[in-house]
Amino acid sequence: MRANSLVELDRAHLVHPLASYRGHEAAGVRVLSSAKGATVTDAEGRELLDGFAGLWCVNAGYAQQSLIDAATKQLSQLAYATGYFGLGSEPAIRLAARLAEHAPGDLNHVYFTLGGSDAVDSTIRFIRYYHHAIGKPEKDQFISVESGYHGSSTSGAGLTALPVFHTGFGVPHDWQHKIPSHYAYRNPVGSDGETIIAASVASLRAKIAELGAERVAAFYAEPIQGSGGVLVPPAGWMKAMHAVCKEHDILFVADEVITGFGRTGPLFASAEDGIVPDFITAAKGMTSGYVPMGAVFLSDRIYDTIADGAGDAPIGHGQTYSGHPVSAAVGLACLDLYENGLLDNGRMAGNRLLEGLYSLADHPLVGDVRGRGMLAAIELVTDKERKTPLPAEADAGRRIFDRAWANGLIIRAFNQGILGYAPPLCCTEEEIDTIIDRTRMTLDQTLEDKDVR
Ligand code: PMP
Repeated sequence: MRANSLVELDRAHLVHPLASYRGHEAAGVRVLSSAKGATVTDAEGRELLDGFAGLWCVNAGYAQQSLIDAATKQLSQLAYATGYFGLGSEPAIRLAARLAEHAPGDLNHVYFTLGGSDAVDSTIRFIRYYHHAIGKPEKDQFISVESGYHGSSTSGAGLTALPVFHTGFGVPHDWQHKIPSHYAYRNPVGSDGETIIAASVASLRAKIAELGAERVAAFYAEPIQGSGGVLVPPAGWMKAMHAVCKEHDILFVADEVITGFGRTGPLFASAEDGIVPDFITAAKGMTSGYVPMGAVFLSDRIYDTIADGAGDAPIGHGQTYSGHPVSAAVGLACLDLYENGLLDNGRMAGNRLLEGLYSLADHPLVGDVRGRGMLAAIELVTDKERKTPLPAEADAGRRIFDRAWANGLIIRAFNQGILGYAPPLCCTEEEIDTIIDRTRMTLDQTLEDKDVR
């Protein structure tokens, strides 16, 4: 079918995630039609380097034969198996076991979801259940971090701290609270790591004191804040926050939906951060985006408490597609790739990416460069001294995205003028260099754009 007719059908029928519906109708959809490795091809035959791995998820790259084979084989052998009624499938069981082996500490129990939002939502339910089970139902207040993203479910969207997910949706709920972000480039306490950590610890302590530790159920944090603009905390930040939670008997949820599965280097960023959270949420890279799947990792203590608390009664949490065998088979094939070179390649390519982005630091538009592994950003400003953001009314994000696209590069252009990078971990050095070259070209063109400047 011709691209033009698809644009019309899309306009008339397809509701897009996180879009201005009218804005999208006016602009028209860009149809992607095929992809291999780190290159996607649109319906007009234009080849683009995918510097964002779809939506920070296609870690293994596109058209990876082992993933296709795993899905195909499982589809013909057993396309579906429920986990209800005491049933299960080999891929789901094996994937849970292998993930438990890789997960930090005693995070030995895995509940499978369809993606990240329902993984976060599941943690909220598990945490409430846990506190009921230990006879502390009054522990029902949740704390997360400004600029954080924890999905767009009815409950999770209120832990998310991006206003666009709140406006008109009746969230956050009155049991959801925030502390300021560590955002080093624009932090009122300055950019020194120790100072930022001390400020975050003080904010968390103050929030706990305000609510009463006996009422606080859990604290949520991403090892690196992704959707908030790739905000990398100073080394030791997660550990310091984890220690405060431990001290006050507050459960700690590391939301690794983006950072999990090699995005920052290891399989789990929490391991690098030196913590064993009570829960980890994951998705995206777990199946490299080939098929939907997310997961909640529960520690022995949490799992056993929930299990014993329920006794013989069923625990009323479940989804039709929890532990889907096709997704699980792809997850196992992904683990094979991670274990056999993909993590190593991601580390190599991540170094190259950061090196390349730092080489752009003296560009007149670049105010900040930050990242860890294959997760990075540059923040654009019109005045480096004053850190003046690009003018919001110029729709700079959209313009830069369009310009990068015309230059054969897909990146995430956040509205604040932040450009996000999360290429597939399979990228070659040459591909990373091309991402940098095309970025430089895009920045030079943006410099000429009087409206954006
Ligand atoms: N948590 C984090 C940290 C995320 O980045 C995301 C998605 N970008 C989610 C949760 C929600 O995941 P999903 O879009 O798969 O529902």
